[in-house]
Amino acid sequence: MYLIQEIIRKKRDGDVLTDDEIQFFIQGVAAQTVSDSQIAAFAMAVYFQEMTMPERIALTCAMRDSGMVIDWSDMKFDGPVLDKHSTGGVGDVTSLILGPMVAACGGYVPMISGRGLGHTGGTLDKLEAIPGYTVMVDRDTFARVTQQAGVAIIGQSHDLAPADKRIYAVRDVTATVENMSMITSSILSKKLAAGLDALVMDVKVGSGAFMPTDALSEELANSIVSVANGAGTRTSALLTDMNQVLASSAGNSLEVAEAVRFLTGEQQNSRLKQVVMALASELLVLGGLAIDKKHAMDKLSASLASGEAAKRFSLMVEGLGGPADFVEHYDQYLPRAQVIKPVYAEKSGVVTAMDTRAIGMAVVGLGGGRRVADDVIDYSVGFDQFIQLGDVASPKVPLAILHARNEQEWQIAAQNLRQAICIGEQYHASPVIYRYVQ
Ligand code: URA
Repeated sequence: MYLIQEIIRKKRDGDVLTDDEIQFFIQGVAAQTVSDSQIAAFAMAVYFQEMTMPERIALTCAMRDSGMVIDWSDMKFDGPVLDKHSTGGVGDVTSLILGPMVAACGGYVPMISGRGLGHTGGTLDKLEAIPGYTVMVDRDTFARVTQQAGVAIIGQSHDLAPADKRIYAVRDVTATVENMSMITSSILSKKLAAGLDALVMDVKVGSGAFMPTDALSEELANSIVSVANGAGTRTSALLTDMNQVLASSAGNSLEVAEAVRFLTGEQQNSRLKQVVMALASELLVLGGLAIDKKHAMDKLSASLASGEAAKRFSLMVEGLGGPADFVEHYDQYLPRAQVIKPVYAEKSGVVTAMDTRAIGMAVVGLGGGRRVADDVIDYSVGFDQFIQLGDVASPKVPLAILHARNEQEWQIAAQNLRQAICIGEQYHASPVIYRYVQ
């Protein structure tokens, strides 16, 4: 038995908390015996004093265990339970492609995803562009679809990591989100509650990344890998580029359409493919489904060529309430914007940089994301056929095709897009994958 204020005081004074103290605090958060003001004080103490790696592991485990931790053993899966998580990006449709590919290679991917946050798109918002697709389902449906399709992408239920939900809500309004220990434990508690055998993290680096500097992205990747492995889940991380829109599109329906075209082989953006293949191959090796990277890459390529990955996507969509023929007729099902026109550059030159965050915010401005939690999303809007860094732009070559609800919103977004894309003389290519953290 501890006193909550003594735990806060100890952290405030820069001391190291024991596992029992951390567990006591988090159990109190879940049981509502710790007040919001105590959570706020604790968060501020951690913000200034940070936590050691063992404290972060204890915090993550306590938050993971604050609710239900899914146990898949009853399902008798004949493969490992695997997942991927990203710190969020623009045009980052990786999950919709990677999940079915990993399933086609023998993994089971019960992916619990989130909604768009600020300038970054959300996997759940993208999937909800599919008519009938239901992201909030009961545990039996989740298990059945994971069993049948090998992949089910759904939303977080209230009983998974409830302590994180409370703590995050307080951090959000007390200027304590930006802290390595709490970001690590918040992300991991939710993911590890899904009962995973292995996890790969995609930590974005660059102008559209969640972390404000490359050094902080790298620190987050290191923290996540140390803590997740310390908590007993095999995990590695990749630092990947978010200095430009990852896919050829940004916007919910447009990204779903791109994911389908990727899975069927109709259109595969090469940067997106590099990120998908790197993350998925890492996961196959971590999960014991491939002996090395080369073996994993071969299996993943075969999953696309055989149509098996597209089939897994189709089974997931049908299992979660979407149309059975969605993959064949996605164009007929996805909502289409009223005004669809190319945006041209005002001068000629090479695309040297993109303010990817601003492009994400342009999608939000079009109605494709939320400014406040209960905003209603317009799934049809966004950009596609996006120009890439190093491409030549001109008043005759579109920067992108812009999909808007009306002419006025089209004009505003077109102006935002032109401002977000720098046109100059020389572009210095940067890698798509910066580093593996193991
Ligand atoms: N995403 C999360 O889930 N938690 C954080 O603390 C930050 C980003």
